[in-house]
Amino acid sequence: MTPTINIIHKQSGAAFMLKKNDILTVIDPMGGQVSDMVVFNAEDYKEKLSSGKSLDFEECILLTKGHFLWSNRSQKLMKILEDTNGRNDFLLAPCSPETFKIMYNYEGEHPSCLGNLQHHLQPYGIEVDDIPTAFNIFMNVQFDSDGQLFVKPPTSKAGDYIQFQAQMDVLVGLTACSAEDSNGGTFKPIHYYIETQPKHIKRPR
Ligand SMILES: [Zn+2]
Repeated sequence: MTPTINIIHKQSGAAFMLKKNDILTVIDPMGGQVSDMVVFNAEDYKEKLSSGKSLDFEECILLTKGHFLWSNRSQKLMKILEDTNGRNDFLLAPCSPETFKIMYNYEGEHPSCLGNLQHHLQPYGIEVDDIPTAFNIFMNVQFDSDGQLFVKPPTSKAGDYIQFQAQMDVLVGLTACSAEDSNGGTFKPIHYYIETQPKHIKRPR
Protein backbone atom coordinates (compact mmCIF):
# COMPACT_ATOMS: atom_id res chain seq x y z
CA MET A 1 0.00 0.00 0.00
CA THR A 2 1.33 3.43 -0.92
CA PRO A 3 1.57 5.59 2.20
CA THR A 4 -0.29 8.91 2.29
CA ILE A 5 1.92 11.94 1.69
CA ASN A 6 1.37 14.67 4.28
CA ILE A 7 2.08 18.28 3.31
CA ILE A 8 3.56 20.88 5.65
CA HIS A 9 2.82 24.18 3.92
CA LYS A 10 5.53 26.83 3.74
CA GLN A 11 6.43 28.41 7.10
CA SER A 12 4.24 25.99 9.07
CA GLY A 13 4.56 22.74 11.03
CA ALA A 14 3.03 19.47 12.23
CA ALA A 15 3.18 17.03 15.15
CA PHE A 16 2.42 13.30 15.19
CA MET A 17 3.17 10.03 16.97
CA LEU A 18 5.32 7.15 15.73
CA LYS A 19 5.38 3.64 17.13
CA LYS A 20 8.69 1.87 17.64
CA ASN A 21 10.08 0.71 14.27
CA ASP A 22 7.78 3.00 12.23
CA ILE A 23 9.62 4.70 9.38
CA LEU A 24 9.31 8.45 8.80
CA THR A 25 10.37 9.84 5.42
CA VAL A 26 10.85 13.62 5.14
CA ILE A 27 11.00 14.96 1.59
CA ASP A 28 12.14 18.31 0.18
CA PRO A 29 9.69 18.42 -2.77
CA MET A 30 11.06 21.54 -4.50
CA GLY A 31 14.67 21.60 -3.26
CA GLY A 32 16.49 24.06 -1.01
CA GLN A 33 14.14 23.85 1.98
CA VAL A 34 15.04 23.15 5.61
CA SER A 35 12.82 21.14 8.00
CA ASP A 36 13.39 21.27 11.77
CA MET A 37 12.57 18.08 13.66
CA VAL A 38 12.21 17.54 17.41
CA VAL A 39 11.51 14.16 19.04
CA PHE A 40 10.12 13.20 22.48
CA ASN A 41 9.65 9.84 24.21
CA ALA A 42 5.89 9.26 23.80
CA GLU A 43 5.67 7.82 27.34
CA ASP A 44 7.50 10.68 29.08
CA TYR A 45 8.00 14.00 27.31
CA LYS A 46 10.82 14.96 29.71
CA GLU A 47 12.92 12.59 27.65
CA LYS A 48 13.69 14.32 24.34
CA LEU A 49 16.13 14.85 21.52
CA SER A 50 19.60 15.98 22.64
CA SER A 51 22.04 17.55 20.23
CA GLY A 52 24.84 17.31 22.80
CA LYS A 53 24.35 13.59 23.46
CA SER A 54 23.92 12.80 19.75
CA LEU A 55 27.08 14.63 18.63
CA ASP A 56 28.99 13.06 21.53
CA PHE A 57 27.88 9.45 21.06
CA GLU A 58 28.09 9.55 17.26
CA GLU A 59 31.48 11.37 17.46
CA CYS A 60 30.40 13.52 14.54
CA ILE A 61 28.73 16.91 13.97
CA LEU A 62 27.34 16.03 10.52
CA LEU A 63 24.83 13.27 11.16
CA THR A 64 23.57 11.29 8.17
CA LYS A 65 22.76 7.73 7.05
CA GLY A 66 23.73 5.16 9.68
CA HIS A 67 23.81 7.61 12.62
CA PHE A 68 21.41 7.64 15.58
CA LEU A 69 19.67 10.59 17.22
CA TRP A 70 19.93 10.24 21.03
CA SER A 71 17.89 11.53 23.95
CA ASN A 72 18.91 13.57 27.00
CA ARG A 73 18.68 10.27 28.91
CA SER A 74 21.19 8.59 26.58
CA GLN A 75 18.70 6.41 24.74
CA LYS A 76 18.36 6.03 20.98
CA LEU A 77 15.30 7.87 19.60
CA MET A 78 15.78 7.59 15.84
CA LYS A 79 18.05 5.83 13.37
CA ILE A 80 18.80 7.54 10.05
CA LEU A 81 18.16 4.83 7.45
CA GLU A 82 18.63 6.89 4.31
CA ASP A 83 19.74 10.44 3.46
CA THR A 84 19.93 11.31 -0.24
CA ASN A 85 21.19 14.87 0.32
CA GLY A 86 23.53 14.10 3.21
CA ARG A 87 23.80 17.55 4.78
CA ASN A 88 21.94 18.33 8.00
CA ASP A 89 22.66 20.58 10.98
CA PHE A 90 22.44 19.80 14.68
CA LEU A 91 24.20 22.87 16.08
CA LEU A 92 21.63 25.65 15.78
CA ALA A 93 18.40 26.10 17.73
CA PRO A 94 15.12 26.36 15.78
CA CYS A 95 14.54 29.87 14.42
CA SER A 96 12.33 31.86 16.81
CA PRO A 97 10.65 35.29 16.82
CA GLU A 98 13.73 36.55 18.69
CA THR A 99 16.09 35.18 15.99
CA PHE A 100 14.67 37.66 13.50
CA LYS A 101 14.93 40.56 15.95
CA ILE A 102 18.45 39.78 17.22
CA MET A 103 20.11 38.65 14.00
CA TYR A 104 18.18 40.53 11.31
CA ASN A 105 16.75 43.58 13.17
CA TYR A 106 13.38 42.49 11.85
CA GLU A 107 10.47 44.42 13.35
CA GLY A 108 7.02 42.89 13.79
CA GLU A 109 5.69 39.33 13.57
CA HIS A 110 7.69 36.73 11.65
CA PRO A 111 6.75 33.06 11.37
CA SER A 112 9.35 30.76 12.98
CA CYS A 113 10.11 27.09 13.54
CA LEU A 114 9.92 27.54 17.32
CA GLY A 115 6.52 29.24 17.01
CA ASN A 116 5.24 26.48 14.72
CA LEU A 117 6.62 23.70 16.95
CA GLN A 118 5.05 25.38 19.99
CA HIS A 119 1.68 25.66 18.22
CA HIS A 120 1.59 21.98 17.19
CA LEU A 121 3.11 20.51 20.39
CA GLN A 122 0.95 22.50 22.82
CA PRO A 123 -2.02 20.07 22.46
CA TYR A 124 0.33 17.35 23.79
CA GLY A 125 1.12 19.46 26.87
CA ILE A 126 4.57 20.57 25.69
CA GLU A 127 5.50 24.17 26.47
CA VAL A 128 7.88 26.33 24.48
CA ASP A 129 10.64 26.01 27.10
CA ASP A 130 10.48 22.20 26.74
CA ILE A 131 11.43 22.31 23.04
CA PRO A 132 15.05 21.21 22.50
CA THR A 133 17.56 22.07 19.79
CA ALA A 134 16.07 20.60 16.63
CA PHE A 135 17.70 18.24 14.15
CA ASN A 136 17.75 20.62 11.19
CA ILE A 137 17.11 18.45 8.15
CA PHE A 138 18.68 19.73 4.89
CA MET A 139 20.19 22.74 6.75
CA ASN A 140 23.58 23.69 5.35
CA VAL A 141 25.68 25.19 8.14
CA GLN A 142 29.33 25.49 7.19
CA PHE A 143 32.17 26.28 9.58
CA ASP A 144 35.85 27.10 9.26
CA SER A 145 38.72 25.82 11.39
CA ASP A 146 38.30 28.79 13.79
CA GLY A 147 34.74 27.70 14.45
CA GLN A 148 33.10 30.58 12.58
CA LEU A 149 29.66 29.52 11.33
CA PHE A 150 28.08 30.33 7.97
CA VAL A 151 24.45 29.53 7.12
CA LYS A 152 24.34 28.66 3.41
CA PRO A 153 21.41 27.71 1.18
CA PRO A 154 20.56 23.98 1.38
CA THR A 155 22.21 21.71 -1.18
CA SER A 156 19.06 19.55 -1.38
CA LYS A 157 17.45 19.07 -4.79
CA ALA A 158 13.77 18.48 -5.51
CA GLY A 159 12.86 15.00 -4.27
CA ASP A 160 15.75 14.58 -1.85
CA TYR A 161 14.65 12.75 1.29
CA ILE A 162 15.80 11.49 4.65
CA GLN A 163 14.37 8.44 6.36
CA PHE A 164 14.24 7.76 10.11
CA GLN A 165 13.26 4.63 12.02
CA ALA A 166 11.79 5.21 15.49
CA GLN A 167 13.76 3.35 18.16
CA MET A 168 10.92 3.72 20.72
CA ASP A 169 7.38 5.16 20.65
CA VAL A 170 7.93 8.87 19.98
CA LEU A 171 6.18 12.19 19.47
CA VAL A 172 7.63 14.17 16.56
CA GLY A 173 7.40 17.89 15.76
CA LEU A 174 8.32 18.86 12.19
CA THR A 175 8.42 22.20 10.32
CA ALA A 176 9.00 23.84 6.98
CA CYS A 177 11.55 26.42 8.15
CA SER A 178 10.70 30.13 8.11
CA ALA A 179 14.20 31.70 8.11
CA GLU A 180 15.18 33.51 4.90
CA ASP A 181 18.93 32.77 5.14
CA SER A 182 18.50 29.05 5.85
CA ASN A 183 16.33 28.46 2.78
CA GLY A 184 18.04 30.46 0.04
CA GLY A 185 15.58 33.35 0.43
CA THR A 186 12.37 31.49 -0.54
CA PHE A 187 9.94 29.38 1.48
CA LYS A 188 8.74 26.02 0.23
CA PRO A 189 6.65 23.17 1.65
CA ILE A 190 7.95 19.95 3.20
CA HIS A 191 6.36 16.56 2.56
CA TYR A 192 6.45 13.50 4.84
CA TYR A 193 4.97 10.06 5.11
CA ILE A 194 4.90 7.33 7.72
CA GLU A 195 5.22 3.60 7.13
CA THR A 196 4.04 1.46 10.00
CA GLN A 197 5.61 -1.92 10.53
CA PRO A 198 3.32 -4.92 10.15
CA LYS A 199 2.15 -6.04 13.59
CA HIS A 200 2.68 -9.61 14.65
CA ILE A 201 -0.76 -11.18 14.35
CA LYS A 202 -1.64 -14.10 16.60
CA ARG A 203 -3.48 -16.74 14.61
CA PRO A 204 -6.36 -18.54 16.31
CA ARG A 205 -5.47 -22.18 16.85
ZN1 LIG B 1 13.48 27.63 11.06
